[in-house]
Amino acid sequence: MNIKLQPIYRNSVNSNANSVFKNDFNFFNCRYFQSGYYSLCPQNFIRDNKNLVNDENLGKVVEKDQLFDYLFNLFQDPQTKELNVGKFLSALAEKGIKKTDPRLEKMVDRLKAILAERKGSGNIEGLTLDKNLCKTVIQENIILFSRAFKHDFVIPDFSDFCKSIEEIYWKCKANIGGKVADYIPQLAKFNPEYWGISICTIDGQRFSIGDTNIPFTIQSSGKPINYAIALNELTSHVVHQYVGQEPSGRMFNELVLDHNRKPHNPMVNAGAIVICSLLMHLIKPEMRPSEKFDWISAYYKALCGGEYLGFNNATFLSEREAADRNFAIAYYMKENKCFPEKAVLKDIMDFYFQMCSLEVNCQSLSVMGATLANGGICPISNERIITNSPVRDTLSLMHSCGMYDYSGQFAFAVGLPTKSGVSGSMMVVVPNVMGICCWSPSLDAYGNSVRGVQFCDELVSIFNFHHYDNLFHSESHKKDPRKRGFYTKIIDH
Ligand code: GLN
Repeated sequence: MNIKLQPIYRNSVNSNANSVFKNDFNFFNCRYFQSGYYSLCPQNFIRDNKNLVNDENLGKVVEKDQLFDYLFNLFQDPQTKELNVGKFLSALAEKGIKKTDPRLEKMVDRLKAILAERKGSGNIEGLTLDKNLCKTVIQENIILFSRAFKHDFVIPDFSDFCKSIEEIYWKCKANIGGKVADYIPQLAKFNPEYWGISICTIDGQRFSIGDTNIPFTIQSSGKPINYAIALNELTSHVVHQYVGQEPSGRMFNELVLDHNRKPHNPMVNAGAIVICSLLMHLIKPEMRPSEKFDWISAYYKALCGGEYLGFNNATFLSEREAADRNFAIAYYMKENKCFPEKAVLKDIMDFYFQMCSLEVNCQSLSVMGATLANGGICPISNERIITNSPVRDTLSLMHSCGMYDYSGQFAFAVGLPTKSGVSGSMMVVVPNVMGICCWSPSLDAYGNSVRGVQFCDELVSIFNFHHYDNLFHSESHKKDPRKRGFYTKIIDH
């Protein structure tokens, strides 16, 4: 199944589409060939040549038939000359693409229809398809599939990468330190044994291990999301008239403002409450609170590619009841004119508690992280949700302020933008690579998930994901699972 990659010579400038296919290794390695050496064809050329696709990802014009032939040859049974759907799907799963991926929905529906037409019992994995039928089934996803099997995803050897993640998972599971948050009963009741890790890469490769389907409230892991949405709607210039960019060096719920009488940053409670006031009163101020809740829920839902998002009303009510400190912060900010004019404190606080009480699970939060890793485009829906610069600003503040009072040490040791929440979640972003969600309810003295922090330490001790790891002149034994590293490995040996 492994396609042998060969070294690429920078000798071919493809100014016309046909030249792309003249030479095999150029065609098969085109993703490595990008800057300055590729050509996307004018749209009218593509329109007149139905068999060609301009693939922005590949940075190339490609011929669909040729991609299809290549894939079909990889998977056809030498005797029957048919493709076995089960084998194809499990090879895809090994690359991180599951059959539940929304991008494959049409294909799976088509396979179900074929199964029904054949009056077959069992499941679609048992189907075999001849070449013509196969073409109608997989044509729609041909670019995705060919990238999967040409090692063109950001983590080409995904199963090897996942093995390492699994090892870290078990190592961290043995750690039973920490204490579950107990300021409200809805958090206190969580079993400290829960432990899950989910990964979603910028190509939508998925891996999950442990308790990744269990809903938990997003709590402070939603603060960067609200901040990103505020930036996306209002621009950084407007948002930062109300909130700073400095780490506070104080507890997340401290009653303190910076020397400009603004909250230090959007990742501590004071800043997050101000962000809620902007979302409430500067964006579509005509909306009623109920409509605003629907509006922001739709944003969250799009950020996680339609995966699990819920609302925990009991948590909302408890949060509101046990909120003396948050109300004290809010009144202190009101006194200091931190909110926009006409702000209604009760509505702002309700909105803040509602945002804390949104439910996600490990899998859906990893997709939100992946959308941030991918510059605001959700990898599993290919929809742009947030523009680039709000995402960059959000990651910057997650990096410097995302881990409460431990932010400086975490930025030093791990070097990845991350936001933790009191329910035990951590949304970790490896920019341009993947989103990771770690979830385990036991917290350390700073309020960060004990296992989540350990996971990150272990992750960057194995892989060169720390923001300041050198990618080109490695002196350590750290691995680079990214495509560039993969390619280097190939030409080195
Ligand atoms: N609901 C919590 C609060 O506002 C959220 C804080 C957190 O997750 N650290 O205090």
